[in-house]
Formats: sequence, structure tokens, C-alpha cells
Amino acid sequence: MIEKELVIIGGGPAGYAAGLYAARADINSVLIERGMPGGQAAATEWIENYPGFPGGIGGIDLALKMDEQARSFGLEVMTADVEQIEQQGKEFVVSTSQETIKTKTIILACGSKPQFLGVDGEQKFHGRGVSYCATCDGAFFRDKTVAVVGGGDAAVEEALFLTKFAAKVYIIHRRGELRATKLIQKRAMSNEKITFIWHSVVEDVLGENQVEAVRIKDVRTGELSQVAVDGVFIYVGTAANSDLVKDKVEMDARGYILANEKMETSITGLYVAGDIRQKPLRQVVTAVADGAIAAMEVEKYLASLED
Ligand code: NAP
Repeated sequence: MIEKELVIIGGGPAGYAAGLYAARADINSVLIERGMPGGQAAATEWIENYPGFPGGIGGIDLALKMDEQARSFGLEVMTADVEQIEQQGKEFVVSTSQETIKTKTIILACGSKPQFLGVDGEQKFHGRGVSYCATCDGAFFRDKTVAVVGGGDAAVEEALFLTKFAAKVYIIHRRGELRATKLIQKRAMSNEKITFIWHSVVEDVLGENQVEAVRIKDVRTGELSQVAVDGVFIYVGTAANSDLVKDKVEMDARGYILANEKMETSITGLYVAGDIRQKPLRQVVTAVADGAIAAMEVEKYLASLED
């Protein structure tokens, strides 16, 4: 069994910021990520609201820079799946697909995952026209017609991204007003390829072998209709990746973990950072701030154990 002072779980912006600060504070730590660095930020084509990059920066590019920067200060990065977290007295045992690690502290930075719409055809056509990642799958829909479901930042930004490929993009939203940031709204409203379908919910995704249409319902009148589309991109919010600590730590109904401004959770020694915690603004800029705070609080906590 490996022994560490800190295990950071998740290699998105929050995890990497925590790793950078922990490495610079000379904390014996490891960051565990199951796949590519960057988390949801890396699945974002272009990020233009992270300070320091006038004109914006690609999500993957930003993630790779964060990885490089943290490693340059000596952060150890392990590629593995975390399977279990167990508390043993004041310490934790983290079981992964590679190693078992005993650690004094943990920063959970596992982020969030797309929320499912919950209609019949959604699972059936996942990967056959239903997608949760325009950056990954948008290019398959060159000159086609697609629908984006949702009215938040993710839905509207990704609809704009899809106009690079698709001939026509519907945004289907359940209200008559978008939740997305005003600037993004304006861009979408003035894009000729985007058509809004307001006050409507998707009742089903239809097709033979792949998506051919969506059945929608006007929530004001109850009227049902079909819209012919080749693809459906679902952006109806997110849920926390907090299963590892379910029933162990305090969280809200959607699994977002409750923490104070020091990123401390209801378990001593367990900290959170980024999208996994209950917070008012989920952005790269707030994720990295959480990560830095969590790492600095870990440093203080470790020092207190030595007193
Ligand atoms: P979000 O802000 O929670 O928006 C979810 C959207 O989906 C809302 O418009 C909501 O409608 C709709 N919705 C929810 N459940 C639905 C259902 N069952 N059927 C139909 N529509 C449904 O989620 P998000 O857009 O994924 O963004 C998540 C977080 O990441 C946010 O904090 C966001 O600001 C951030 N983000 C930021 C950027 C950026 O700054 N560039 C980009 C992406 C994401 P209502 O409006 O009626 O509730």
C-alpha cells in the first residue's frame, strides 16, 4: 500500500489547481484521473471567459497547460479508476484500479456529469444520434439538422458550436426565456442557422436504427408534434459525480456535496473543489479557486496533525 498525505481525485481544473498548490507546498500528493485531463472544460470547444486568454483558448489546450504546469512543480499524476474510499480512524484508504493508497486527506474534484432527459428513445439512440457532447460528435452532423435540448449556457453555446457543421439547429426549451448568459443569447438569436422552439419539451426520440425525429409537446397547450432531425444534443443540466461518498458525506438532493468556504465537508480531512460541490457558479474560474483553497486548507490541517 502506498502512503500519501493528500489524494486528489479528478483531473479537471479544480483538481489540477489543487495539485499545483499542493506540489508547491511540498505536500506528498497524487492526483488520480481516469481519462484525459480537463474534465468537462476539455469537452468545451472554446473558453472565452477564463481570465488571461484574450480571444479565448481551446478547452483541451487549457487542460494540457494545467497538466504541464502542475507536473512542472512535481505533481504526481496517476491514471486509474477510483473504486472505493474508506475511512480508517483519522485516515482514508483509497482503492483504485491500479494501487491502494493510504492518505491523511482527500480533495474530491470529480466534477459533474450530464443529466439525462429521461425519455424512452434517449438510451436507445445514445451514440446513434443522441449525444451529450457537441465537441465530440458535432462533426458527424455536417449539413444535417440537429436539435439541442435545454436553455442554459451549455445548450446555447453548444448550439452555436454545432452551427459550424449542421445546416440547421433547433434549440428546444421548456420556457419562453433562456437561462444562458446574455452575450451568448444574443449570438444565438442572431445566428441564421438557429431556430428556437419555445415552451416545449421533448417527449421522445424517434427513429428506426438512428435518430429521425423528436416528438415534442407544447407545455402551454399540450399539443404534440414531430420535428425531423438527424441528431439530438441534450444539455439539461448536470448532476454531481459523488457516488464514491454517497451516504457518507452531507450532500444535496442532486448529489452536490456541501462544503464551507474552506472547502471542508462534513468529514474531517475530506475536502471538495469545483463542480462537485454545491455552489452558485460552476465555471473554470471558480473551480480553480476552489482547488487552490482546498490545497491550502489541507496544508494547514496536515500541520495541525503534527502539533
Ligand atoms: P443549467 O444552467 O442548469 O441549465 C439547464 C437547462 O436545461 C435550463 O435551461 C433548464 O430549463 C433546462 N432543463 C433542465 N431540466 C430539463 C428537462 N427535464 N427538460 C427540459 N429542459 C430542462 O445547466 P448547463 O447549461 O449544463 O450549465 C451547468 C453549469 O455550467 C452552469 O452553472 C453554467 O453556467 C455553467 N456553464 C457555463 C458556460 C460558460 O460560461 N460559457 C458554459 C457551459 C456551462 P430552465 O431554464 O427552465 O430551468
